[in-house]
Amino acid sequence: MPKKQGSGTTAIHGGKGPYDGSLKTNPVITPINMSSTFEFDTVEDHQNSIFGGLAWPMYTRAASGNPTIRYLESKLADLYGAEACLATASGMAAINYPLMHLLNPGDHVVMGRNYRLTHNIGQLILEEKMKVDVSLVLSDDANEFPRFFNERTKVLMLDLPTNPMITIIDLEAIVKSAHEHGIKVILDDTCATPININGFDFGVDIIACSLTKYMCGHGDAIGGAIISNAKLVKDIRHGLYPRIGAAISPFNAWLVAQGLKTLHLRVPRHNENAQKLSEYLEKHPKVAKVNYPGMPSHPQYELGHKIMSGFGGMMSFVVKGGDEAATKMTNLLKLGKVGTSFGQAETMVETGWMSHYEWSMDDRIRFGLYPGFVRVSCGLEDADDLIEDFDQALAQLDVDINEELPEVEDTSIEWTPTVTTME
Ligand code: PLP
Repeated sequence: MPKKQGSGTTAIHGGKGPYDGSLKTNPVITPINMSSTFEFDTVEDHQNSIFGGLAWPMYTRAASGNPTIRYLESKLADLYGAEACLATASGMAAINYPLMHLLNPGDHVVMGRNYRLTHNIGQLILEEKMKVDVSLVLSDDANEFPRFFNERTKVLMLDLPTNPMITIIDLEAIVKSAHEHGIKVILDDTCATPININGFDFGVDIIACSLTKYMCGHGDAIGGAIISNAKLVKDIRHGLYPRIGAAISPFNAWLVAQGLKTLHLRVPRHNENAQKLSEYLEKHPKVAKVNYPGMPSHPQYELGHKIMSGFGGMMSFVVKGGDEAATKMTNLLKLGKVGTSFGQAETMVETGWMSHYEWSMDDRIRFGLYPGFVRVSCGLEDADDLIEDFDQALAQLDVDINEELPEVEDTSIEWTPTVTTME
């Protein structure tokens, strides 16, 4: 009698699935390939996948990637009309990789009005660990930047629109002057998405963004992406990427790829909701200031309309009565959810005190985060319902409607905000 295979071996090797070729399947939806590693027919095939031309996935964290991740990457490259994309575990990883790839000790980087944790990368990783000089420029005027460029400047890091001030910079002018100085421009377009602006149309060298927000759109996955020319993406993919190891999970890649199919439908609705809520809030006597480029009161209203087709679902405003009033109003919202992140179906609301707890009040005021600051990521609800929600919350505030915004004492644009390692 032939020796019977052990139940352990059968549990592992038993069963036949569609992927061994026994059943023809043509799924419309790209399947999730939840395999950390991949089997080869021979040792030679394995070596050929590393050194030869065999396009075969080897290990999900490695340069060869994973079929689901590769699918997401090629979808994103197509969406931007770019040569290549590398997906990462988070937006933070997507920002760190090109900065670390392009910068060496002694180099200089200029950062604009970036996301708070991008400033942290500048101060805590580039400056403290990598000995790169960092200039943080608190300005939305492209003409202010060239005086910060020097012969050691290798990278200019920009966000557009900025989070949470929702400012816009003249991308064409700033990219032109950076290139004249031989500086590469990295753009974080997380708040815009390629539906509202494609940075490559303005000559940016690299897009480094979070996929967690609008790209995914449903608040159920964390991810990031680096989009650029084939050589640069290949150099990072084969260099820092597998060594630092911030690969996106295939499941998250699949969720983002599914979300991307409706990006062009969702983003216009986010844009519309933010516009309508801004119009309502700007007329409200208890609101001191509204930040949204779709409003004529916005300093870059004309520039915004020239370079963007929409401004995203995120807007911010200052409620009279300071942080106490902002906290009360936010707690009183019924549809708007108190929490961080943005770009998903649910409206998410965060006060300046919640997001920028680590900054001194002086830093906050210099940045425009006045007491009473509230950031709203307008979701996909009906605008009338959102407005009604803010209306009932504001109605319950007892504030002095004659209150003025505080004076900004320090108006210099070179700055160093307080940093913390708490996050
Ligand atoms: N870029 C911007 C503009 C962001 O607002 C964020 C997060 O809020 C990130 C990048 C980081 O993205 P992630 O949370 O996916 O790491």
